[in-house]
Amino acid sequence: MKLEMIPQEFKQALPVLEKIIEHGYEAYFVGGSVRDVLLGREIHDVDIATSAYPEEIKAIFPYTIDVGIEHGTVLVLAGKTEAEHYEVTTFRTESQYTDYRRPDHVDFVRDLSEDLKRRDFTINAFACGIDGEIVDCFDGLTDLKERRIRAVGKAQERFNEDALRIMRAMRFAASLDFTIEEETFVAMKSHAPLLNKISVERIFIEFDKLLQAKSYKKGLEALIQSEAWKYLPGFDKRGLEALLSELTEGFVFENSAQAWAAFMVRIEQVDVVQFLRHWKVPNDFIKDVSLLTEAYQLDQWTLESLYKFGLRRAELVDDLKIAEGKHIDKEIAKKLDAALQIHDKFELKVSGNDLLQAFPDDIKPGPKLGFILKELEVKVVRNELVNTQACLFDYIKNNCLSR
Ligand code: ATP
Ligand code: MG
Repeated sequence: MKLEMIPQEFKQALPVLEKIIEHGYEAYFVGGSVRDVLLGREIHDVDIATSAYPEEIKAIFPYTIDVGIEHGTVLVLAGKTEAEHYEVTTFRTESQYTDYRRPDHVDFVRDLSEDLKRRDFTINAFACGIDGEIVDCFDGLTDLKERRIRAVGKAQERFNEDALRIMRAMRFAASLDFTIEEETFVAMKSHAPLLNKISVERIFIEFDKLLQAKSYKKGLEALIQSEAWKYLPGFDKRGLEALLSELTEGFVFENSAQAWAAFMVRIEQVDVVQFLRHWKVPNDFIKDVSLLTEAYQLDQWTLESLYKFGLRRAELVDDLKIAEGKHIDKEIAKKLDAALQIHDKFELKVSGNDLLQAFPDDIKPGPKLGFILKELEVKVVRNELVNTQACLFDYIKNNCLSR
């Protein structure tokens, strides 16, 4: 099969492949980008595979960076912009996965089909030549047409080698809206316990992509039915089932934090911070999800809650509730936000220093200063005081000094 039209992203990379070929080696587009071209989807990263060894690639191109030379990957800088930087990886095989997660070592090979064999799914195992000819050793084109995820080779062996592929299968089912082929699914189920051997960070990346995909429900269904959820820290079947059934058809999470919050609010008595710590995610993310989860529990917005959570989070929570079929007027959060005089305490028109200077006899550094500032902040947020220095000073003179 031959591509009718070479996409722009490939055309731009053609000089790199041509140069490798001029030097007597083979070069192909491989991996997800070829799959995405065949599906008419947007391409993100263009990966190139070659029969040339890393040192040979480095001898051909004047500007390269060793990004993963032990795995055979060299970054070729074909131009100044990032779009013109290409990962060029030597054809390789992977041997023996004694730890169920990383190959013990990789061997470089000169044969493309050897390289395609080590890839996870048939739809990820295409290569595309410079003329647009598709190399399809495992009948991936049929799987693409029939919209299914099928392991390359013996599924049982492939998941035994690398259990992360179990998560990847579900992630691709979700992002492509594909079905997981029977034998592949059976093997996923029987190898799910091996997910214990995979780092939570790597599992997080796949599950996070799954949640944000258009057909995340397909991914969740596979996660529940394969029982792989049992090997994911803190995961709860009832919570997953609720996440699967309680949001309207067609709803897509707007970001990762919203998706995780939607899950957290469906797990009974969950401690969000503890839960996410197990997943070793950044503290900012934990904070974001915790705040969204807390905001979700509120029955209505107030000036104070908008000030605390911010309009962006309020909208994410509203959208989630709308997706649950609740009647929410999104204008309420917007109006309250517009009515706020400040969105951060630093916008208060007096600072601690201002107070110390203005009232040297009455206010000294210490807890009292903090209490006064907090009181001003609360009153300004509630619109009980106007946020000008004159008004705030007036209020302090009349209310705070005699205490
Ligand atoms: P995306 O569109 O999300 O980038 P992708 O298919 O490009 O999807 P990557 O994780 O970028 O996925 O991997 C690139 C390619 O490397 C895959 O298409 C697949 O051929 C191969 N690959 C990646 N991870 C694995 C794995 N765990 N086992 C086998 N092959 C893999
Ligand atoms: Mg990719």
